[in-house]
Amino acid sequence: MSTKQVRVRFAPSPTGPLHIGGVRTALYNYLFARKMGGKMLLRIEDTDQNRFVPGAEAYIQEALAWVGIVIDEGAGVGGPHAPYKQSERKPMYRAYADKLIAEGNAYYAFDTSEELDAMKERLKAAKVASPSYNMVTRMQMNNSLTLPEDEVKKRLERGDEYVIRLKVPRKEEIRLNDMIRGWVVVHSSTIDDKVLLKSDGMPTYHLANIVDDHLMEITHVIRGEEWLPSAPLHVLLYRFLGWEDTMPQFAHLPLLLKPDGNGKLSKRDADAAGFPVFPLDWKDPASGDTWMGFREQGYLQEATTNFLAFLGWNPGTQQELFTMDELIEAFTVERIGKSGTKFDINKAKWYNQQYMRQLPDATLTQLLKEEADKHQATYDVAKLPLIAQMLKERLTFAKDFWIEGQFFFESPKTFDEKVAAAKWNAEAVTVIVAYKDALTVYTGVFNAENVKHVLHEVLEKADIKIGKIMQALRLALTGVGAGPDLMQLIEIVGKEEAVKRMEFALATLGEKVNS
Ligand code: GLU
Repeated sequence: MSTKQVRVRFAPSPTGPLHIGGVRTALYNYLFARKMGGKMLLRIEDTDQNRFVPGAEAYIQEALAWVGIVIDEGAGVGGPHAPYKQSERKPMYRAYADKLIAEGNAYYAFDTSEELDAMKERLKAAKVASPSYNMVTRMQMNNSLTLPEDEVKKRLERGDEYVIRLKVPRKEEIRLNDMIRGWVVVHSSTIDDKVLLKSDGMPTYHLANIVDDHLMEITHVIRGEEWLPSAPLHVLLYRFLGWEDTMPQFAHLPLLLKPDGNGKLSKRDADAAGFPVFPLDWKDPASGDTWMGFREQGYLQEATTNFLAFLGWNPGTQQELFTMDELIEAFTVERIGKSGTKFDINKAKWYNQQYMRQLPDATLTQLLKEEADKHQATYDVAKLPLIAQMLKERLTFAKDFWIEGQFFFESPKTFDEKVAAAKWNAEAVTVIVAYKDALTVYTGVFNAENVKHVLHEVLEKADIKIGKIMQALRLALTGVGAGPDLMQLIEIVGKEEAVKRMEFALATLGEKVNS
């Protein structure tokens, strides 16, 4: 174990909105950095200009900030290794490509795209499984390994287009000790001669990523499993550049799988099932296509962060609710799972429920007010805190304030038919008529306790048990068969409204029914 300060980076490419799996990667990096007293960097890997999408970088920064990740150094923040955007670092990479060439570990390749296509066709015709530019085929191509030295020189001086390719050694075993997977051993014959520098002088991901991780003194690379196949190539680059002794440690995170565990989680599946797999809403600037975000769907930041932390990691205890500080305290790479993790949106909802309940009273009241305003409800502000308290156990999202508690603001216009069919009977009608009349003439303090007392007097007189009529009474007052404490509801809506609702129910559902 090195004693160097831990430095990790999240290195997304701004090619569109950041997938929730990317946010999880960033979160694990962040938890690890904080746990180890290290630094968290954000580097924007935008060397592939063809895939650049305007707005994507801002989206990434907003998403990370939203889940509570604080960047110590990097894009949007600055730091000693600025700039942190690879397109702005372009001039730095050339020297490393030149060094690789000078030491025989890379070469100039002048092949045109037609020549490359022709090579692939040839290999396909010869039934080669995955045709590539590699240690065998390189010798049939136009590059500085096959062309005479003076011809290479001439072409370079003339300004012919070329790329720089890695010269992958012929027979070598490349090993890396992944923190999650243990030893990974790959034979060099399976690696192709990747382009390191493109014809426009821009590095490819592989070169830029290794050079930057080295220059930025990254100690641990924690990233998605999809990068595992590139890791041996990266080890080779560290070796050739003479940096193997300070090479970062790798940790490749398990994939996020569809809810049924059958394949990789995709936007298409999530859209079809109606749940988000992106942190924030996004609209593609070119196509106008839209992406659904956790934030806009009503997930709280704390709930989202907690949910993401558990997608592939667990603390090894029963505890499920963790603040960011607790996550940092509990987090270890050793407890990250090796196999893919099923993405269960119900778990995200459960987390949201838990965190909704824990919100401060004033926040809940404010959320209730916003929902009520959204529906143009009229209300007595003084009553909002109590309504919020009564509803908070029933919420998954803030929007449920209205779904679950609309009847606090508006008298019901319709009645649940199933409940009516099962519970609206002669006894209920008797009690509701008598209760309405008793409340009409009631002159005492109109509160839950007293209206309950009035109800019990009515029931006693009629000799009817409360259990027999309770749901019908609730139906009359709220339109539905279940909800929060009914006596408190009566107190909140007030005498006049309660009486009016009972009258309307009686008129609508009929005063006379057969029991
Ligand atoms: N730019 C890569 C990405 O988009 C970074 C992979 C890595 O972390 O090395 O995920």
